[in-house]
Amino acid sequence: MKIFDPYEVWFVTGSQQLYGDETLKQVAEHSRQIADALSAADNIPVKVVFKPVLTTPESVQRLMLDANSTPDCIGLITWMHTFSPAKMWIAGLKALAKPFLHLHTQFNRDIPWAEIDMDFMNLNQSAHGGREFGYICSRLKKSRKVVVGHWQAEAVREKIGVWMRAAAAWQDSQNGKIARFGDNMREVAVTEGDKVEAQLRLGYAVNGYGVGDLVEIVNGIGESEVDQLIAAYNERYLVAAEARKGGAKYADLRDAARIELGIRRFLEDSGFTGFTTTFENLHGLKQLPGLAVQRLMADGYGFGAEGDWKTAALVRALKVMAKGLPGGTSFMEDYTYHFDPAGMKVLGAHMLEVCESIAAEQPRLEVHPLSIGGKNDPPRLVFNAAPGPALNVSLIDLGNRFRLILNEVEVVPPAADLPKLPVARVLWEPKPNLETAAQCWILAGGAHHTGYSQAVGAEHIRDFAEIVNLELLEINDATNPGDFGDRIRWNDIYYR
Ligand code: MN
Repeated sequence: MKIFDPYEVWFVTGSQQLYGDETLKQVAEHSRQIADALSAADNIPVKVVFKPVLTTPESVQRLMLDANSTPDCIGLITWMHTFSPAKMWIAGLKALAKPFLHLHTQFNRDIPWAEIDMDFMNLNQSAHGGREFGYICSRLKKSRKVVVGHWQAEAVREKIGVWMRAAAAWQDSQNGKIARFGDNMREVAVTEGDKVEAQLRLGYAVNGYGVGDLVEIVNGIGESEVDQLIAAYNERYLVAAEARKGGAKYADLRDAARIELGIRRFLEDSGFTGFTTTFENLHGLKQLPGLAVQRLMADGYGFGAEGDWKTAALVRALKVMAKGLPGGTSFMEDYTYHFDPAGMKVLGAHMLEVCESIAAEQPRLEVHPLSIGGKNDPPRLVFNAAPGPALNVSLIDLGNRFRLILNEVEVVPPAADLPKLPVARVLWEPKPNLETAAQCWILAGGAHHTGYSQAVGAEHIRDFAEIVNLELLEINDATNPGDFGDRIRWNDIYYR
């Protein structure tokens, strides 16, 4: 049982008739062994399915068309065991609409120095067979990941596993559905964007719903359902006295539970994968959904506040990539700075909506007023995030394209308790440092909203960007502002 069942990745081997049946039988046997070994490996999260060795243009094209029309096939691993003349791959590659990874490996790890003869040389031709295949992929401008190394090496399997996670997120995105409760926060620029273009490029559909449609469901939730959910809250969180039965804010917690049940029902009934809310469109809801959003994110839903559907879909993609990995993933916002020269930091948070999956400790459930929106006091989970490496990623619409901006960060514990701050928060040091990271982020037009993850690494994002063909600007330990500015200018020409 793999993490991403029922998804599968097809293992596709290229060769040619020239070698004769005996050699091709050996090629097929080796190929099957590699596919089975990969499929059984712990760090490979998707089942790998062996496919018969391809030796003709017709068989290549048929396989690619089959892959396109097989919903559970999320991509191909291609391997040239021998020399597979690449003109026979043209028709198939032109038709292929699924992601693929070119595994540039060889069955034998080592050259058998004492035994090597021309039979061995004829059978083990990946070193040049892979180059012939690479040429035609490059000529056709096919996006793909190239992984080089022996198929039994952990590092090679790790790279394949990362790509599979990105391919799974791509597949999920093809069928993604984002529900918007209300519109964008008025006058905000970066959370706007072209929803039609997003669907063309990323697959997911974004549609708006009247808050009244949600309110109707929320108001129809029965008291016993609310009782059960409150009991679950009490079991899972440190519930503040004011939110307990008989407390001054108990009614607000019941409203929050009703809102959670209502949103969940709305999302489940129509198979949504993410959603947005906005404090400016809450007519009929008694409070801004906070606790509900935190808990729905923990269950894998993408979320963006203030109508930010691009970030909602991005958080969903991160959630898919992160499936089964240690570390949490959340909607996030760069909130406030610590400019002490001895160690500059960013405090990340939101008004309420930070996913409990990133908590370092058991969250406290508290109820406090919200200074904007003019609604009742919303309950929320309050916690610090777990320290360690993490990343922030932003998707923006530049008018002629979407751009991803990625910043690697190191999460650190707060220097002191934050007794008066009633929200979940993360304190991080951006790489290479706050000055350069924020300078480059702002030059790139990166949003204030991000997807934040401790489970997903830079390579996942790179692979996802490659599959979707998205521009990606990375800010990390190797970044300097001069080169970064040049990259922005060069990319503007490339994408014109
Ligand atoms: Mn915000």
